[in-house]
Amino acid sequence: MGSNGDYSFVSDGFSAGSLFKQGFSYTYDDLIFHPGYINFAVDDVDLSTSLTRNIKLRTPCVSSPMDTVTEESMAVAMAAVGGIGFVHYNNTAQEQADIVKKAKKQRVGFVANPVCVSPSDTISVIDSLKASKGFSSVVVTEDGKVGSRLVGIVTSRDVDFVRDRSTQVREVMSTDLLIAPAGTTLEEATKILTRNKKSLLPLVSESGSFVELLCRTDLKAYHALPPIGAPSLGSDDKILVGAAIGTRESDKDRLKLLVEAGVNVVILDSSQGDSMYQRQMIEYIKKSHAGLDVIGGNVVTAYQAKNLIEAGVDGLRVGMGSGSICTTQEVCAVGRGQGTAVYKTAAVANALGVPIIADGGISNSGHIVKALSLGASTVMMGSFLAGTDEAPGDFYFQDGVKLKRYRGMGSLEAMTKGSDARYLGDKTRLKIAQGVSGSVAAKGSVLQLLPYTMQAVKQGLQDLGVSSVKASHDGLNAGAIRLEVRTGAAQREGGIHDLVSYEKRRF
Ligand code: 5GP
Repeated sequence: MGSNGDYSFVSDGFSAGSLFKQGFSYTYDDLIFHPGYINFAVDDVDLSTSLTRNIKLRTPCVSSPMDTVTEESMAVAMAAVGGIGFVHYNNTAQEQADIVKKAKKQRVGFVANPVCVSPSDTISVIDSLKASKGFSSVVVTEDGKVGSRLVGIVTSRDVDFVRDRSTQVREVMSTDLLIAPAGTTLEEATKILTRNKKSLLPLVSESGSFVELLCRTDLKAYHALPPIGAPSLGSDDKILVGAAIGTRESDKDRLKLLVEAGVNVVILDSSQGDSMYQRQMIEYIKKSHAGLDVIGGNVVTAYQAKNLIEAGVDGLRVGMGSGSICTTQEVCAVGRGQGTAVYKTAAVANALGVPIIADGGISNSGHIVKALSLGASTVMMGSFLAGTDEAPGDFYFQDGVKLKRYRGMGSLEAMTKGSDARYLGDKTRLKIAQGVSGSVAAKGSVLQLLPYTMQAVKQGLQDLGVSSVKASHDGLNAGAIRLEVRTGAAQREGGIHDLVSYEKRRF
């Protein structure tokens, strides 16, 4: 691209403005970007971005508010890699607020809610913890809970040769403890633990109560990971956590509990967000919780985006029918190809200073590059994250493949549990599904998946010749980023072809 801002020499391919004028609804796979000029290293690509008007992220990724995607572990992991998780609301308001509260209590690397035993518990309790959870070392506190006085630690060495398993923990526990003060940084705590060759380092408050734990086994796992960088922290110095709510009267009480739990941002969860219900809720939140950022949506047209921005949203969630589990376009005949939806809404929203979240349809790093380069500031992912260790639910095997359940929040299964506010009007009696329920393959930890994925996204932006998310938006607006539509044959050519067999390893 021209360094003096003169792009008139560019005639190859199309600018986004002219390509998206043609009356087609394009999705990510329909489109292909032309490479640009590279004059910077891949590690110089800056992925930092805005989630909302007021919240910045180091990593342009967020997890979907779905009951098979985001609860406590996902929220913590997404913040750990510099993104954010949105806790779903297919539960009671109290359950959702408790998830937010617990997630916000966590510091990356530490265990905030470890299992404890009391001195009067028997060794058989330790045996069953080992069988069910795999622990061999447990913290002992006065009443067996986090927050009460630390009195000892039991490791396998303390109990291995005790024949009578009804012996009380107080008789075998070690009381000569290595401890660190509450608030010790991960770096400092790691040094203390490794220097002293212990398996656990409890952190205790000034009054002696047990608050947090650092485990040698977690540290080992952590060190095997790629560097994950700084976590997303709020002004409260705690990790950023978001949550979804609906637009019913009862959601006002839910919101109150979430705010008390410390939620940093809320998403109004609706498949068609340009409604009077959403307007009223935005007005209510802005009046009752003035400092809280609100993300509206979902929208797919410039008109819808403009309406919600006028209503006062701080961010917009874009996508209708693009989700992997979604049947909205088939059932309701409304929606838009996600590439077009992101471009059209971002064109309006970015000009008005409101960032776009491209929600749904992300199945690889290339889709993330496309979403960002079409104007999105972040991407929201469901299926991409649903097979990770941090997603709710247990893994199971089918035909030798390790899987996890993943379901649409508009699937009958999820709606039967309560998520019908998003897909049905308040008074609708007949339940019509707008999503399906299925499974996804296991993918390991978010702490590994996202750093590798972000490295691929950086390579994509480098190939485009843009060194940041902002530069990709500027390049798109200036017509310097060129793109074309791929024919069916071009799409086949762009995928793997003509091989009898192959192995696809992601990293
Ligand atoms: P994915 O990343 O799996 O392609 O899409 C996830 C997104 O799909 C969610 O963030 C949400 O916007 C949308 N979604 C979740 N459940 C449903 C559903 O049951 N029906 C529809 N239409 N969309 C859904």
